[in-house]
Amino acid sequence: MHGAQIAQVSGVAGREALRRRAAAWTPEHKLSYLRAKVIGDCRRCPLARGRTSIVFGAGSPRAEILFVGEGPGAEEDRRGEPFVGPAGARLDAFLDEVGLSRDQVYIANVVKCRPPGNRDPRPAEVDACAPFLRAQIRAIDPKVIVALGRHAAMFLSGRHDLSLGRLRGKPLRYRDPKLGDKTIPIVATYHPAFILRKDASGGEQDRFAELVVADLRRARSIASR
Ligand code: SF4
Repeated sequence: MHGAQIAQVSGVAGREALRRRAAAWTPEHKLSYLRAKVIGDCRRCPLARGRTSIVFGAGSPRAEILFVGEGPGAEEDRRGEPFVGPAGARLDAFLDEVGLSRDQVYIANVVKCRPPGNRDPRPAEVDACAPFLRAQIRAIDPKVIVALGRHAAMFLSGRHDLSLGRLRGKPLRYRDPKLGDKTIPIVATYHPAFILRKDASGGEQDRFAELVVADLRRARSIASR
């Protein structure tokens, strides 16, 4: 998004004019505007106080597969990128196993700032940050969303009553009132950090890794339709 293209927006009429113009923007322009002009130096929730970086997302703005995790960890917060460090390396290995690379997908989180001590984000924090993820999804318009971990799966599907083990394999759909009747399929799978916490010696990590790879193959298959 070029600076000159970003109009000063004020009042209902200005916002409506911007909305009409934005409908014709490319995914790259939409994401760029969202990051620079909507999120900016966001302080809409208490997570702003402890963060080093706002971790917006990374990858192809035209990706057919969007990965969504829960929130940035310490390394992501330090570097300002999603899924770096050991969990990121594990995700890269999963992508590689199904013939994908980071530049073919887009990776984002439900909340853009690191919850202190890697605790779960609180409902009010998720509510404050959710419009940004929803706007990212509308801009990218993926064919399928892979929810990494229970919190991402719950947020995206609206199913707060099931464990991830029970959400996996269910025909979940992402809905957004701004998308009208359109829905986007969700593939729920385990978060790489969850797998890394499993016992590596007894084959438990391998067992969960096989499930994730099977889920990612399913996501690829959906994206290719
Ligand atoms: S988590 Fe989201 S809403 Fe909260 S301060 Fe960060 S960007 Fe803003």
